[in-house]
Amino acid sequence: MSARPSGSGSAEHAIPVPVGLPVPEVRGGRTARPPRHVRVREERDILAAVRAARDAGSTVRALGSAGSKNDCFRTGGTTLHLDRYDRVLAIDGTRVVVQGGMTVGALNAVLGRHGLALPTHGEWAGATVAGAVATGTHGGSLRHGILPSSIAALRLVTADGRVLELNRGSELFEHAGVSLGTLGVISTVTFDCVTRFHLELVMRAVPFDRYLRDLDVESRRHEFYSAVWIPTARRVITFAADRTDPPATPVRRRERFCGTTFVLSLLSRRLGLHAFPDRWFRHAAVDACEHILSPIRDRSHRVQLFRLLSSDWKAAEFAVPAAGAVETLSALDAFLAGHRHALTNPIGLRASAGDGFSLSPCYGQETFWIDLFFTGQNGFATTLRGLFEDLGARCHWGKHVALSPEHLQRQYPRWDAFRAARRALDPAGVFANPFTRRFGL
Ligand SMILES: Cc1cc2nc3c(=O)[nH]c(=O)nc-3n(C[C@H](O)[C@H](O)[C@H](O)COP(=O)(O)OP(=O)(O)OC[C@H]3O[C@@H](n4cnc5c(N)ncnc54)[C@H](O)[C@@H]3O)c2cc1C
Repeated sequence: MSARPSGSGSAEHAIPVPVGLPVPEVRGGRTARPPRHVRVREERDILAAVRAARDAGSTVRALGSAGSKNDCFRTGGTTLHLDRYDRVLAIDGTRVVVQGGMTVGALNAVLGRHGLALPTHGEWAGATVAGAVATGTHGGSLRHGILPSSIAALRLVTADGRVLELNRGSELFEHAGVSLGTLGVISTVTFDCVTRFHLELVMRAVPFDRYLRDLDVESRRHEFYSAVWIPTARRVITFAADRTDPPATPVRRRERFCGTTFVLSLLSRRLGLHAFPDRWFRHAAVDACEHILSPIRDRSHRVQLFRLLSSDWKAAEFAVPAAGAVETLSALDAFLAGHRHALTNPIGLRASAGDGFSLSPCYGQETFWIDLFFTGQNGFATTLRGLFEDLGARCHWGKHVALSPEHLQRQYPRWDAFRAARRALDPAGVFANPFTRRFGL
């Protein structure tokens, strides 16, 4: 595998620590009180921090871009900041090795220069690759899985001070694919990329009933298919994207959650505006795949500011079997008729292929995602939980987890096997935090 220059730094060479061996020496030595913050520049910084936390009986947790809509990245122990651990280490054909702190957007820029692309990814370019992998971040395509589905190998720093190279096909790899940092710190990710491609994205507004009628056909006809639903206006705005030739002049896409959809949703809820001209949403964009798939380029601090301003909002993304998507949406539609003021935004709708990652919401089944934004007033969250638990839902680990730990445990056939692997790798809970403890992970 050849070393190449990359994102923010110069050429990087071989990774220094032998795979699977204890690290002989840690910079800084033993420390009674590990530092609260460590800025990681190389893998040995991760090893040193993990070992210091373990020896002090403390905890450690890697931070990505803090884009998750819950507390999964917080810790009372040591926070590892990976924003300077952000380079592409090697490119060999379509196989690309990346440090965990690189953002998806920065990776896309390097890949684009080499004529490569990730097969799919989430809409936010600001997520780090390790953070996005750890939470099972996904795009909208029944032909592609969540981001971890594109990974060939992971390098994991474990609580006992080893570095494990986990390859696709091994049981530990399937546990580690979506593991919320509980098994160790993801040091590097090896992606299986594809040749860069261009997409034409067609946007239009359709009545809710027609969306339901055509959902299965349209989801399978297009390589990428996502939507936002404004229940009170009984309209769904769809985004269908397929491969095309590179355009002479790219046309940028519109975001799903944009000012227009937000205002229409608000007017529809508050003023009873039940219709708007569908032509407002007739639009076609043609662009390189990374721009179509990741249109949200906000930096982390903007996301934090937005979170502060909307601190009473919750964002939860439920995952249900794609085969039952129409029934689930119909049940949700009936439920929302009695809760029209609880939502703050339109509802995001997407699908993903199934996979074999133990904690993936897509484990063993094609999955349909329902992304809801709401205020926690009047017990709405509790009734919503009841609805989705009855529907057998799982949920996105990087958003508000609106389902109970007991329910979640029952939805994942590999839950106990995952927990056993976690106990074996980290018996003292060096990587645990209140979020993971809440779910017994
Ligand atoms: C604007 C916006 C748009 C979004 N769009 C989508 C979308 O389209 N699809 C989707 O699925 N999600 C989406 N999300 C959710 C987001 O992709 C995930 O929450 C993702 O985890 C954020 O990445 P991050 O780098 O901010 O991770 P963080 O939030 O910082 O961390 C997430 C988890 O990963 C752990 N972690 C981070 N780095 C490591 C590491 N090196 N080793 C081990 N564990 C680690 C953290 O401790 C934490 O538990 C969106 C979020 C935002 C803010």
